[in-house]
Amino acid sequence: MGMDHSMTSSSKISSNPLHDMGVQALAHELRAKSVSAVELAQHFLARIRAHERLSAFVELQEEVTLTQARAADLRLAQGTAGLLEGVPVAHKDIFVTKDFAATAGSRMLQGYRSPFDATVVAKLSQAGMVTLGKLSCDEFAMGSSNENSATAPIGLQEPAPVRNPWNTERIPGGSSGGSAAAVAARLAPAATGTDTGGSIRQPAAFCGVTGIKPTYGRASRYGMVAFASSLDQAGPMARSAEDCALLLSAMCGPDPDRDSTSLDQPAEDFTVHLHDSLQGLRIGVPAEFFGAGLSSDVGASVEAALKQYEQLGATLVPIHLPRTELSIPVYYIIAPAEASSNLSRFDGVKFGHRAQKFTDLSDMYQKTRAEGFGDEVKRRIMIGTYVLSHGYYDAYYLQAQKIRRMIADDFQAAFAKCDLIAGPVAPTVAWKIGDKSDDPVANYLADIFTLPASLAGLPGMSIPVGFAQSTTDKGLPIGMQLIGSYCQEARLLNAAHRFQQATDFHEAKPAGF
Ligand code: GLN
Repeated sequence: MGMDHSMTSSSKISSNPLHDMGVQALAHELRAKSVSAVELAQHFLARIRAHERLSAFVELQEEVTLTQARAADLRLAQGTAGLLEGVPVAHKDIFVTKDFAATAGSRMLQGYRSPFDATVVAKLSQAGMVTLGKLSCDEFAMGSSNENSATAPIGLQEPAPVRNPWNTERIPGGSSGGSAAAVAARLAPAATGTDTGGSIRQPAAFCGVTGIKPTYGRASRYGMVAFASSLDQAGPMARSAEDCALLLSAMCGPDPDRDSTSLDQPAEDFTVHLHDSLQGLRIGVPAEFFGAGLSSDVGASVEAALKQYEQLGATLVPIHLPRTELSIPVYYIIAPAEASSNLSRFDGVKFGHRAQKFTDLSDMYQKTRAEGFGDEVKRRIMIGTYVLSHGYYDAYYLQAQKIRRMIADDFQAAFAKCDLIAGPVAPTVAWKIGDKSDDPVANYLADIFTLPASLAGLPGMSIPVGFAQSTTDKGLPIGMQLIGSYCQEARLLNAAHRFQQATDFHEAKPAGF
């Protein structure tokens, strides 16, 4: 198994190229010494270069990657290998990394280099994973389309939207759009993402990959550039639930010294229950997720997936999440409020961009921020400062907090009747690049099904369940969302894995990759 397979995108019938193998399979090959970590890193780096036109990656440091791979090979040889030793991974550019730049997709952080690794990055490295590079994301993770990055992708001088490998005229989803596109195009077997209001689940759905956002607090937020601190969570994206389980097991765990909101729950091996039977599993189907705004393509695939679950032994239970629609205004008050506070640190003094010309301190602040932030970020800072301001705080921010609690309570009432909840991830498949770029509200509305679980802090995942059939969207992937109660990641992954054993949507691959 060597480099000669690298450029073929033949199906697994021929020779099972390295890039078609998942995390689990690659870890196995590495241990069996049928491929080295260095060969694997070179293979994926060559693919990343060959598919630069997707604009998924914003930075490579090939020497760093190869040095990490050589160290992995040494540990494999010495028998001191970690669980994922030598398996390549790529990180969303919102995680700080000491050997790569970290821009969070913002002009504000161009050229910024962190002196330390985010905890999630460090944990995956401790498990032996080799970092391929950094992945494009919407600026400060604000967005649903990956059209809002100010960081130029590799091979280009100017910022560019990430392209969906299933149709390069379409968006990959966001804000972890680079992560989803890279995994779908087999430029990396797995990637990290972050999800504040859907940014792991929605791009996973739009690119036909699998992703999980764990319970709020499961993974440390240390070293994740902050957007909305009460919502931000890290999670893995890969092609299968099994691979996500492997990464998630390595990523989670308490971090009391560095993230005071991290849960006091020991790291768990999420692979243990993957194969459990689904006999008797009660799946709640919220009526509010199947209303008028749902595209017929998405509705049909999700319905078919629910039938498949019945065949696997699950029972479907009709439930209600009555405040689903309110999750949009609630989220778009709370997230900008927190963002306006978090982003106040970018003032041109401590780190990041500073305006070249200014008259006094206040002018320096203003020019720095005017130059450093993009339109969507400015919009959110303005909304956030408005809803937090004296006189509006009670009317907007406090009301939103109250409804947030009610949304969480609605879920708990639902979980009295079911073990997990299933529905669509997004109302439509991936839209055309440019289609909603001038219409922030249209973008916000498309988050309707991912926001509720985020506001409640619940774990949610996205699995591929089909492809659009209608003429305009033909062939674009469709995702189904699974939502669990607190710390029920193992159950979600189990349900996803059993589904993937019975179906092959997650194995489909975009033409040309
Ligand atoms: N689309 C949502 C937003 O723009 C969610 C983003 C995210 O989860 N990071 O805020």
